[in-house]
Amino acid sequence: MSFEKKREKLVENLKERNILKDEKVIDAMLNVPREKFIPEEVKNQAYVDTPLAIGSEQTISAPHMNVMMCQILELKEGDKLLEVGTGSGYHAALCAEIIAPKDSNNPGHIYTIERHDYLAEKARKNLKKTGYEERITVIVADGTLGYEKYAPYDKILVTAASPDKIPPPLTEQLKEGGILCIPAGSKKFSQSLYKITKKEGKIKKKRITGVRFVPLLGKYGF
Ligand code: SAH
Repeated sequence: MSFEKKREKLVENLKERNILKDEKVIDAMLNVPREKFIPEEVKNQAYVDTPLAIGSEQTISAPHMNVMMCQILELKEGDKLLEVGTGSGYHAALCAEIIAPKDSNNPGHIYTIERHDYLAEKARKNLKKTGYEERITVIVADGTLGYEKYAPYDKILVTAASPDKIPPPLTEQLKEGGILCIPAGSKKFSQSLYKITKKEGKIKKKRITGVRFVPLLGKYGF
């Protein structure tokens, strides 16, 4: 079966499981070739709903997790998004499809931070070969500090698990009315996915579900 056909089947499956609901996220899932973001040896699993190893002991999340996080963020065209944990660049590409679609008059932008040089370089290559390099800026830094230069952000996505105390720079760099989606909890087990919102300067934290992510390292990480 072709990758395209497998991609369509995965999308159907995620819809049937009632996970994938937002039209914009459906289109993004259909448009981004996940097989181009993963190592050769796991390409046959590109459209299995599972995390996959991408090198440097890191993983690309399972597709249902990408979907859930995009929906929690209520992404829309024009958003300025900060992602912490670039990994392969796949999740950033999904977000780019929504906030900066190709012929947009009001394109948003994604700043994505990775602490591993090797992964950042690989992600840049993946994003170039798939045509996202102008919409996504990959930065090598400690993402627990956020990225002050382009703050505040409409949306912030963290794709590694933070300690229970959410890194303060992230809530500080979130725009009024913005959304932060972040897994947090213990280093290896018992983590929860949170939707954090900021209204009139007040931070509200809502638990969505239990999850398991690689740890967020760095100054405010583990
Ligand atoms: N979103 C990625 C998957 C990320 S896995 C994708 O779509 O492929 C989590 C990533 O977070 C790893 O690549 C890890 O190196 C990175 N990471 C962990 N702590 C970090 C920190 N403090 N700053 C930036 N990146 C970090």
